[in-house]
Amino acid sequence: MTRFATVFVPVPLKTAFTYSFDPDKCPVQPGIRVRVPLGNRSVTGFVTGVSDSRPQGEFEIREIEKPVDKQPIFGEGETELALWMEKFYLCSRGEALDTMIPNARRDSSLPPLGFDPEPMKEGMVLSDEQQSALDAILSRKHGAYYLYGVTGSGKTEVFLRVAEQVIAQGRQVIYLVPEITLTHQLARAVASRFGDKVAILHSALTQAQRIKQWRRIRNGEAALVIGARSAVFAPCPDLGLVIIDEEHENSYKSGNTPRYHARQVAWHRCQETGALLLMGSATPSLECYKLAEDPDRLCMIRLTKRVAGGKLPEIKVVSILGQKPILSPVLVHAMNTVLDQKRQVILFLNRRGYNHSFRCNSCGFELTCPHCSVALTWHRREQALICHYCGYRTAPLSACPNCNSLDVTYAGFGTEKVEDEVRRAFPKAAVARLDTDVTKGREAGKIIDDFREGRTDILLGTQMVAKGLNFPNLALVGIVQADSTLSLPDFRSAERTFSLIVQVSGRSGRYDDQGRVLIQTTRPNEPAIAYAVAGKVDEFYALELENRRQTAFPPYTRLVQLVFRGKNEQKVKAACEEAGELFKASARAYRRSGELLEVLGPEECPVYRIAQNYRRQLLIRGENPSRVHNLVSKVAEKLKPVSGVYIEIDFDPLSLM
Ligand code: ADP
Ligand code: ZN
Ligand code: ZN
Repeated sequence: MTRFATVFVPVPLKTAFTYSFDPDKCPVQPGIRVRVPLGNRSVTGFVTGVSDSRPQGEFEIREIEKPVDKQPIFGEGETELALWMEKFYLCSRGEALDTMIPNARRDSSLPPLGFDPEPMKEGMVLSDEQQSALDAILSRKHGAYYLYGVTGSGKTEVFLRVAEQVIAQGRQVIYLVPEITLTHQLARAVASRFGDKVAILHSALTQAQRIKQWRRIRNGEAALVIGARSAVFAPCPDLGLVIIDEEHENSYKSGNTPRYHARQVAWHRCQETGALLLMGSATPSLECYKLAEDPDRLCMIRLTKRVAGGKLPEIKVVSILGQKPILSPVLVHAMNTVLDQKRQVILFLNRRGYNHSFRCNSCGFELTCPHCSVALTWHRREQALICHYCGYRTAPLSACPNCNSLDVTYAGFGTEKVEDEVRRAFPKAAVARLDTDVTKGREAGKIIDDFREGRTDILLGTQMVAKGLNFPNLALVGIVQADSTLSLPDFRSAERTFSLIVQVSGRSGRYDDQGRVLIQTTRPNEPAIAYAVAGKVDEFYALELENRRQTAFPPYTRLVQLVFRGKNEQKVKAACEEAGELFKASARAYRRSGELLEVLGPEECPVYRIAQNYRRQLLIRGENPSRVHNLVSKVAEKLKPVSGVYIEIDFDPLSLM
């Protein structure tokens, strides 16, 4: 007898589909994934219900191709969370489920992670600050806590002790960390502490391994789940605590639909389940910093002292305005001193590649990607000019394609060029580079281990070297170009620059008082740099909050970005303009008197073209967060779909590029 299944598929269509199946040949039950035909494709869908009766209506019902799972892998909890995602991020339920539940498409080709558990540090005595933080959190007077502690203040130890308590009460813990942190020390410390009660969800797991961990979590066998962003969806039946380490990290926000932020999802899950939310960072996001003005919403606890003995490092600025060399004489001298003492150096630059622009000095021609409106980056090892947006690559040029002049220059520099310079200047030192070009298909963990264990002397790289790492023998951190993030046309660029400097600096001198930091910059007086150097964290936050208030940007307003993109420039323009009219009319109707609720645009996105798609945007912002949400969801529903024009909705965007 034919039966019918309600299936949500990962496409931007709001309704569920009905498919038929023969229960004798094709066992289907709610909570499993199935392969189903959709148009002329085959996709993986999620079964939320089965029934004996055909639904009303005259439409064709197609047959399920095959079940993917034998046993359910999701239940009511996940379905409800998916429904919340649908409403909160305006995606479809299928897209939400597809984001939440492990799936093959997201698997990477990284080799599996293998490591020996780190021996546990026996009988560590908490510092007074750590102890009172722990007591305060365990008192649970508030629902959400934030450990705002200087780098090296021992936040991890407090997190782990809270986790122990929660697990002792028989409840489960989700511990979120940036992906890179997962590949090394912390995962080891956690694994040795909690033994086989741990589920580690990292990107190197295969689909089968991931599903296995997922099931261990669902049946309560795993008490502590540690993972990056998507681990926030771990199907814990009895969630007691969510920890978000390095809360300021941008990687907690998804770059694809639904563009969720793990913090928002965690917040929601904790409210639903009564679980405790515990976050921490030395540089909280401005959102959390402001939220903590009201301890009933977020209780912030400060840790002001480094636990392992080291003072906060001494930070010095080196002005490189008008200077040619990548490594200033001051930096080279400091590096030599440190290397002579058999200690280590980290160099940081947030730009990959060798050079990042190609310019003709005769006619002014600048080489951009043929598919995107961005400059191509020269990658020397790969001997290619590469687009960092769409991956386009082309052979190097020695003459101008426009006027054939040979007077062309490659300008700007990235980590690859810094590596070259370093090798030249320090021929005897062991040098390693850590950025996504290097780690493609390889293990960042090994590079980090080599450095921590002293097999390399100088580690240079991008953000990856800034993330929550501890290196006992590190004595000098050099920031090669601190102002490169500042010039981006983005309202968060100051916040990002500041937090990067503080985080990278924080790697230095964690275990003794010898830590030094040198910051090369052309803009030493820029507040984001000057305040970071002076260690004036709260002062920077006060200043930046005031900027945001005056310019009406988050956290003083809620911001939503709608990007219209498509290959046909005219169609994109028309669709964006029509939507703009609709939004503006509705905003007028929604707005209370005296309240800010406005629509900015339509305008070209700062990066107007990506992968042959033209991009235009509307920005909606307003003082009242829920009114902004209502406006966007009501109007988005009314937008007529235009073929070939896609709309990406980003609530609370981290960047407006
Ligand atoms: P944070 O996350 O605050 O930057 P970590 O948690 O990484 O700092 O701690 C820095 C170092 O201090 C780690 O090596 C950790 O093992 C050590 N540590 C933590 N708590 C203590 C303590 N109470 N006594 C001594 N060392 C500690
Ligand atoms: Zn030219
Ligand atoms: Zn491109």
